[in-house]
Amino acid sequence: MSYKFTEEQLAIRDLARSFAQKEVEPLSRDMDEHGWNAALYEKYKAVGLQATPVPEAYGGAGLGDIECAIITQELARADAGFAMASEISWVCTDMIIRHGSDAQKQKYLPGIAEGKLCAFGLTEPDCGSDAAGMRTRAKKQADGSYVVNGSKAWITNSGIADYYVIMAVTDPDKRAKGISAFLVDAGTPGLLINKEEDKMGMRSSDTHGLTFDDMKLPPDALLGEEGMGFVYAMEGLDGGRISCTAISTGIAQHAMALAMKYAKERAAFGKPIAKFQAIAFKLANMAMYTDAMELMLYDAAELKSTGVRCSRQAAEAKLFASTHATQICLDAIQIFGGNGYSKEYHVEQLLRDNKLMEIGEGTNEVQRIVISGALLK
Ligand SMILES: Cc1cc2nc3c(=O)[nH]c(=O)nc-3n(C[C@H](O)[C@H](O)[C@H](O)COP(=O)(O)OP(=O)(O)OC[C@H]3O[C@@H](n4cnc5c(N)ncnc54)[C@H](O)[C@@H]3O)c2cc1C
Repeated sequence: MSYKFTEEQLAIRDLARSFAQKEVEPLSRDMDEHGWNAALYEKYKAVGLQATPVPEAYGGAGLGDIECAIITQELARADAGFAMASEISWVCTDMIIRHGSDAQKQKYLPGIAEGKLCAFGLTEPDCGSDAAGMRTRAKKQADGSYVVNGSKAWITNSGIADYYVIMAVTDPDKRAKGISAFLVDAGTPGLLINKEEDKMGMRSSDTHGLTFDDMKLPPDALLGEEGMGFVYAMEGLDGGRISCTAISTGIAQHAMALAMKYAKERAAFGKPIAKFQAIAFKLANMAMYTDAMELMLYDAAELKSTGVRCSRQAAEAKLFASTHATQICLDAIQIFGGNGYSKEYHVEQLLRDNKLMEIGEGTNEVQRIVISGALLK
């Protein structure tokens, strides 16, 4: 890969890689069976990487999108669901940094720098792709506070988060322009966490629905301006889609490494299966696509780090990486033959984990809508 990291970025990559390989990867299969591992997250917090995007003034490292992508890619290579917990929290962090008041930054960012997790609440049971059709209602009261009623579906980190960024309708007549974003603390009366989802993959990540039952929020829970929540969420998802690219790239690199090793060791017809062109060409394709994924990942991350809107680049990168990572995982399973179908050899988990990257933070159909919309504007 020809993208040139700085010395500092290489040091972050080494730190993230070493933690991921020593601490996260050995627990991946166990987390696939038993879910989120809070003790592992405590260890990760102690390393300090979760503070990466938080400005130094609030106790963070003050680094940016490229560094976050590096960490996400390295964590995902070890366990994608674990990587997802921190990346979705960073989507919320980015929204607070961009749109939070001084008081909100003081309240939330130091805790986030210490590793407190956030959850991002956009999707609802009846609308995901058409997020502007949401029904959760935040009704403004005479004293400026809000009373929120409604529900959210599929919210990552929702059972473990300290803070929630939720989007809710403040003006039902204005569709997307009537949606606002709110900062909600865990434990707020009226915030109910529904049962955990029993997922196909990304099983180490924690996912629940939320119910808001007359949840009362003070006026200063509003993030930024009223009516701007949909715009903030879409901006946040640009970063989220870059993170999805990093996750798929990490998964694909892991699948390729496992397939390479296996193809050199497994013999058939008197020679290693890597010597058969049908297998070697699969490996060649894996190398080509993972290299291209990395280039698109860091191109989009670099653009975002300049402050320019990068919706098209983020959508292209996510679409490309998630699609090809699925094919790479399928090819890796094929290279493993019958063993590829066994949980013991791990490649099947990589396929299950990556499938979410074609769905979450906007399906790949939605990515094509974003890309073609930008092209035809
Ligand atoms: C494990 C997991 C974690 C998640 N984490 C979060 C989270 O933290 N926060 C959050 O807010 N959401 C989260 N989501 C929700 C996720 O973002 C949505 O599932 C996704 O956006 C799709 O929405 P939907 O499920 O309602 O599908 P739908 O919108 O019902 O779509 C169903 C199908 O129709 C297609 N479709 C819909 N509209 C169009 C169109 N105009 N053109 C072409 N095809 C179309 C879709 O691409 C899809 O194939 C998560 C989901 C999962 C599974």
